[in-house]
Amino acid sequence: MRKRVYIAHTGGTIGMRRTDQGYCTEHGYLQQQMAEIPELRHASMPEVTLHEYEPLLDSSNMTPHEWVKIAHDIADHYDDYDGFVVLHGTDTMAYTASALPFILDGLAKPVIITGSQIPLCEIRNDARENLITSLLIASQYDIPEVCLYFGGRLLRGCRSVKVSASGFAAFDSPNFPPLGTIGTGIDIEWHLVRRSNDAERLRVHDIGWPVVSALRLFPGISPDLVHNVLRPPLQGLVLEAYGLGNGPDQNSDFLGVLAEATGRGVVIVDCTQCLEGTVNLSEYAAGSALANAGVISGFDMTREAALAKMYYVLSRGDSPEQVKATMQEDLRGELTPGEITHSPHVPGHWKTGLV
Ligand code: ASP
Repeated sequence: MRKRVYIAHTGGTIGMRRTDQGYCTEHGYLQQQMAEIPELRHASMPEVTLHEYEPLLDSSNMTPHEWVKIAHDIADHYDDYDGFVVLHGTDTMAYTASALPFILDGLAKPVIITGSQIPLCEIRNDARENLITSLLIASQYDIPEVCLYFGGRLLRGCRSVKVSASGFAAFDSPNFPPLGTIGTGIDIEWHLVRRSNDAERLRVHDIGWPVVSALRLFPGISPDLVHNVLRPPLQGLVLEAYGLGNGPDQNSDFLGVLAEATGRGVVIVDCTQCLEGTVNLSEYAAGSALANAGVISGFDMTREAALAKMYYVLSRGDSPEQVKATMQEDLRGELTPGEITHSPHVPGHWKTGLV
């Protein structure tokens, strides 16, 4: 029996049409383009249902509302399909790929998010390969995770980041090895794939609108600016700090502003501005000062995952203490608790150690 895959087409470059004003989304256009690809009708390909969203979005317009809409769409069709492909713009793809694992609880089928840098309508494009491979993975591989497939690599969704504005290898997961590498074969690192719990049923956790923000430290940042960001009704902040999670510990006003906010229950999660590595607030005085002000470590979470997780956790209505504890727990493979060290010069060489 041919496998069945449900494609949720949310928009993005992959299905866009060239116009005088630049690339634009257009209803029915992707379906038309796909009908012209004979490989999609090959016996080894799944039977697909393409559902176009209204409106089709450039992913710069995505909000948590769209994340939940995608999750419900998957849940509504869950029993009728073997796997799911979400077509998405690349700009905020890593955010959606980070959020869906939290919203879709008890997932036992593959959900592969993909898109492209060049639309399917162009002769030279990356859309065709990304689409075909995503359909093959969604239909033939038992990977019960939300993944991002792009440019020959299958990444855990909640570890992914966009690293190139125009290259075909546009995504990476710097703190976690790829779940799969696609070259002449499709090589899955099965030992890295999370297993589903067969007893569990899929549940969608709706996300409300908790007030969250992200703030990147920069040399000379004023305590007033930080104070303004932290003003009520803010509930959670992803603080993009330096290196191992450090900040200006000589600036007592800065530390005072953080302490005042955490004191009234604002959850501040420290993520590093570095692409790779983990936060360790005890390594430097410039880190422990932040911890003393009530800031918690985001360990090796990406900024995208920390923000998406914060939306999810704060939507549950837990106390700030409970939110802090959950933010530091590994829920979907998004973080490695404790200190992580790995040699940046030896790809694939990973060492983890709890502290
Ligand atoms: N602006 C587009 C989007 O994110 C870019 C893309 O799809 O590659 O929707």
